Amino acid sequence: MLDELRNPEYTGENRCWPCTVLNAIILLSACAGVTKLYPGTRTRRLGVASAVGIVGGAAIALRGYLVPGTPQIAPKLAARLSPKPQPPAETGSLAGEPDEDVGERALSALLDADIVHAVGESLHLGEGFRTDWRDEMTALRSGNLGAAVRNASPSLVTTESVNDDEYIVVTTEGDEIENERWLSRPVAIAEVAATRALDEYDIDSDVRVQSASALRAFLNDCPVCDAPLEVTSADNCCGSGTSSPLAPPDEVLACPDCDQRVFTF
Ligand SMILES: [Zn+2]
Repeated sequence: MLDELRNPEYTGENRCWPCTVLNAIILLSACAGVTKLYPGTRTRRLGVASAVGIVGGAAIALRGYLVPGTPQIAPKLAARLSPKPQPPAETGSLAGEPDEDVGERALSALLDADIVHAVGESLHLGEGFRTDWRDEMTALRSGNLGAAVRNASPSLVTTESVNDDEYIVVTTEGDEIENERWLSRPVAIAEVAATRALDEYDIDSDVRVQSASALRAFLNDCPVCDAPLEVTSADNCCGSGTSSPLAPPDEVLACPDCDQRVFTF
């Protein structure tokens, strides 16, 4: 009998989750309404409310929805609640997947060119390079950032600007959609500016984007708005960044004004 009632169009794999949630909310308010307004003793009211709850709950479970028209309304409501495409948890970089060998060569190139120098145990960014880098960042704030990203990328890529330029989505030509990288605006500006400045310092093109990616750790001020960056946890600024709710949040360098991370430690 249950199978006859089941509506495969809106249940199982096809279940419309916004419809289910919306209907569950409507059903709960109906039950609450019955408990408050239905005439009779308290026991009777509770009895009717649970009957409404059981029948309505079964309808949602079997048919996918309770209120007629929900499959037309609920997805639009859900779309209005989250109108922006959501970036992936990982912060994208021009450099793509981290590669230990290239990372080491990038660091030694930076040390050889005296862009980065060691003081005791820690590394510091040379002030001359910092100034040149900041000039490039300021220049990039106006103009077509997508085109600048394409020019700076070592491979042939397409770019798309999403969420009012909040992100530049970079896709390597010929790659599947999973390989797209979401560069936040501060990261895109910082990395493209760094590759331009590194070019002036004769850093090899094959380690330039990796060097640019690593250099973000040395930023003091936001690439977009010049506000001083803060070391914080990802939970406090811009999403946990980890897919597991049990994993500790990443420690990040973030702009408090743009609400965007610039580097993940
Ligand atoms: Zn900022």
